[in-house]
Amino acid sequence: MPKDYLKNANDRYDVVVIGSGLGGLTTANVLAREGRSVLLLEQHYKLGGMATWFKRPGGKIFDISLHGFPYGMVKSCRRYWSKEIADSIIQLEHIRFDNPMFSLTTTFNRVDFTKLLTSEFQIPESTVNEFFDTARGMNFYDDQSLNTGQLFEKFFPGRQDVVRLLMEPITYANGSTLEDPAITYGIVFSNFMSKGVFTFKGGTDQLIKSMENEMKSNGVDICIRANVEKINCQGGRIRSVTVNGREIQADVVVSNANLRATIFHMIGEEYFDSSFVDQAKDVRLNNSSTQVYMSMKPGETVDPSTGDLLFSSTANEFKTELLLSRDITSRTFSFYYPDLRPNRENRQLIVSSTNANYEDWSGLSEDEYLASKQDLIETTFDALEKYVPNCRERTDHAEVATPLTFEHYTKHIDGSSFGTKFEGLAVSRALPQQISGLYHAGSCGIIMSGWLGTINYGVIVANDVDNYLISRSTDKPTSTTV
Ligand SMILES: Cc1cc2nc3c(=O)[nH]c(=O)nc-3n(C[C@H](O)[C@H](O)[C@H](O)COP(=O)(O)OP(=O)(O)OC[C@H]3O[C@@H](n4cnc5c(N)ncnc54)[C@H](O)[C@@H]3O)c2cc1C
Repeated sequence: MPKDYLKNANDRYDVVVIGSGLGGLTTANVLAREGRSVLLLEQHYKLGGMATWFKRPGGKIFDISLHGFPYGMVKSCRRYWSKEIADSIIQLEHIRFDNPMFSLTTTFNRVDFTKLLTSEFQIPESTVNEFFDTARGMNFYDDQSLNTGQLFEKFFPGRQDVVRLLMEPITYANGSTLEDPAITYGIVFSNFMSKGVFTFKGGTDQLIKSMENEMKSNGVDICIRANVEKINCQGGRIRSVTVNGREIQADVVVSNANLRATIFHMIGEEYFDSSFVDQAKDVRLNNSSTQVYMSMKPGETVDPSTGDLLFSSTANEFKTELLLSRDITSRTFSFYYPDLRPNRENRQLIVSSTNANYEDWSGLSEDEYLASKQDLIETTFDALEKYVPNCRERTDHAEVATPLTFEHYTKHIDGSSFGTKFEGLAVSRALPQQISGLYHAGSCGIIMSGWLGTINYGVIVANDVDNYLISRSTDKPTSTTV
């Protein structure tokens, strides 16, 4: 008999959350703390979604998306998770840039950037201040006709080098480009500039374990290997989900899965207004990524001055097409020093990440795919050699993830690393007006992606859901309704 991964699930819940990315986990936790009965369903065999890790023999643990997040994570984790989680967040001190235009190391905050822009790049301090204040002041309700390229042109006309300094890390952090609305840049850039770039001491595995414990203590029922095939509605309302062939009733369904997959695969366009369907069809997915994971031999380390995060590029100019091109010129290296996981066997790990187009990988034959992966490893070693001499000889393991890998493990259409482009946010927010009790809390709109964005979106949606449930009943349920 196949194992029943739903054996601990009840037949009915206030809320079913589909997907255990950081957005889904946070929504589930906040609602359970509010006394709602919550079932979390994850199709993969572990929780975390893109916030994940994998192990290889010899004590190697590779993090996939733990490269850096803004300081706001401390507050969000303390409020909506636990003090223990918030206290494990530490700063990455050395953020480094190396490209044909400039080479520098920064703490990546407003004070240091102001210093760099005025001294190294010779920009008047008043312009720098005005730029920072403008970016900081942007909000969702602003005019969105200005794009990021135009914002830069307004403040730093013709200054490709300044654009590169300001934009390259944000493109890496959320896949946004010069063509996206300026607000997507302003919000994320300002979040980082408040204090710099942070990481989680102990690694993603420890973070997700702590989150799982917290959810369990708040009463969330959790099922892994639970693939939701269908979200069922009746009379314009949520009725249930069909998962691993079983139907589970719920007043509310929160999907943390890809927005387009939620609308078109799990529900079906016949349940929505035609104008909404058109709007949803126009939502563009964000780009995907490739990564190369490398571990150095036991005892081998990288000099800390190499940096924690290194934005390296050999391209003479900064262009969106170049960042996504198969002919890779830009790589972001994350150096994981052995003390990131102090309780584990010490290993120096390096992960190289690049933005990538799904189509460049999806059409390959199996042989071409394997050859392309090997080629990516070799060209990455070539690029790394400048920063870690003799890196090939000093490394004992290297492997690759492609857009197909991300698609396989998270079911994001086209392996999208950061959900959707900006227009996805309005569609995500409009779901409850289409079907009562249907919500989406997951990477979308650029602003609501990345670790901080998705956690904060999870909180916003949890509050919406709680208000909806209050409006349905004046008596707040306090335990699971079976
Ligand atoms: C290579 C890479 C590097 C990144 N680096 C950073 C970084 O340094 N800093 C940062 O802040 N962000 C980074 N990100 C982005 C960040 O990881 C994501 O934005 C964030 O983790 C996404 O969270 P989410 O809540 O949207 O859910 P996701 O992580 O997208 O998870 C969705 C979950 O839903 C599940 N699911 C889907 N369909 C179903 C179904 N039918 N039934 C049940 N479950 C289902 C999936 O299995 C998955 O677990 C990176 C992303 C990638 C890919």
